[in-house]
Amino acid sequence: MTFETLGLSPALLRALSQEGYTEPTPVQREAIPLVLAGHDLLAGAQTGTGKTAAFSLPLLHRLYPDGKRPPDAKRFRALVLTPTRELAAQVHDSIRAYGRFCGVSSTVVFGGVGMGPQIDALRRGVDILVATPGRLIDHLERRGVDLGHVEALVLDEADRMLDMGFLPQLKRILAVLPKQRRQTLLFSATFSDPIKDLARQFMREPVEVQVARRNSAATAIEHRVHPVDSARKKDLLLHLLAADSRRQTLVFSRTKHGADKLVKHLVQFGVRAAAIHGNKSQGARTRALGDFKTGAITVLVATDIAARGIDIDQLPLVINHDLPMVAEDYVHRIGRTGRNGSDGQAVSLVSHDETGLLRDIQRLLGREIPLEPVAGYEPSSPLQLSCAAGNARPVQKPQQRGQRPAGRGGQPAGRPAHAKPGHGSGKPSHGKGKPGASRGAHGGGRPRLTDDGRPGRRDAGAASAPKPMTWGR
Ligand code: AMP
Repeated sequence: MTFETLGLSPALLRALSQEGYTEPTPVQREAIPLVLAGHDLLAGAQTGTGKTAAFSLPLLHRLYPDGKRPPDAKRFRALVLTPTRELAAQVHDSIRAYGRFCGVSSTVVFGGVGMGPQIDALRRGVDILVATPGRLIDHLERRGVDLGHVEALVLDEADRMLDMGFLPQLKRILAVLPKQRRQTLLFSATFSDPIKDLARQFMREPVEVQVARRNSAATAIEHRVHPVDSARKKDLLLHLLAADSRRQTLVFSRTKHGADKLVKHLVQFGVRAAAIHGNKSQGARTRALGDFKTGAITVLVATDIAARGIDIDQLPLVINHDLPMVAEDYVHRIGRTGRNGSDGQAVSLVSHDETGLLRDIQRLLGREIPLEPVAGYEPSSPLQLSCAAGNARPVQKPQQRGQRPAGRGGQPAGRPAHAKPGHGSGKPSHGKGKPGASRGAHGGGRPRLTDDGRPGRRDAGAASAPKPMTWGR
């Protein structure tokens, strides 16, 4: 199947060929005909599947028949809601790219930046509005936008919007949209009960489509868990990063404060790193993401919420410095690696206080991830993980489709933990300028960076580590 056979307008086909898209992804193949036919759509697909084009292309086709804007068309005919500013900006960029030969008129509004330019853009009016719920409510309260002519509503990453507590805002927005003749498209990684409730309340006989991730057959994620004392996590992280200092790595921290502290530590040791989280200004977030994409920084430390929906292609490595509090977030986190058909690694540093969280993750995945201590960073006592994954309650996750059996292909290349620490001293081998003050200067709370008298270092590869688990998506 091609984009031509899907019946998209020549203006869109031209833009797609400029984008270098040769054929539709599975979600595009399934969703585009349904949206063109006017159905409401409940789509199980997440970032990386090509979902943005799956809703944008048929919407653009409908808004701009024959590749141009009908002269008598009203303003604000399509509204796209996303959970985060980054995703809103990204979706808006895609809509502008796909619609560039249709004379698309669109704007994006999100919080964290001044209202002024947004007020002006809304006053002028556009056909497609992309927004985060909170900022859109601000504009609605100021009567700065009239959504009375919206023909199509997209709820992108609906599960995340609900996770982030946006349900009241969504309901307020839905209350001002036309009820009749409105087409609603809901995209979500999971179909939890609250999502189904939302669909029942606000959609008309939605057609459901479920897709595996893009290039699922060719993509494999290798999961590794390194048990470690929490005080030594930062050092282990440096050690892992040192294995390939040019590799782009997304590191997850549970808290904003933790993310900042981690970046400070990494930068001290010569790692080019920046943090992205909700307390950062929009400018700082955009800059950090841009620097990461261009390679100006190699490590991006993110909180779960900030990382949602970020599209970063072919990220080889995701490291969970902390496990997420909610097991589902693990699945979202690892969705950042192994994309576009390339294999990826998801590495988690797990301390004693996180064994319960690890068990939750194993339960959710329905399988065990073996513990692999890294030589020189072994925890002071073994982690207790009594709950076998075999007893796990089965959980249906859309992204589990197309799984391969564990252990495919044996030991993959590029294991992260093999670089020997500098001069056998246990120092992370990043950066030359290790500050002398770092050793004990801050008392017992500070992780020790030099040899702590543990048994002699071995290459982690020499340890009889269990085989990592690998599966396709
Ligand atoms: P999304 O899931 O919408 O975040 O898209 C993930 C990535 O896939 C983006 O970088 C898109 O530009 C890209 N993409 C979407 N559809 C296609 C396609 N049909 N062919 C190639 N790349 C695509």
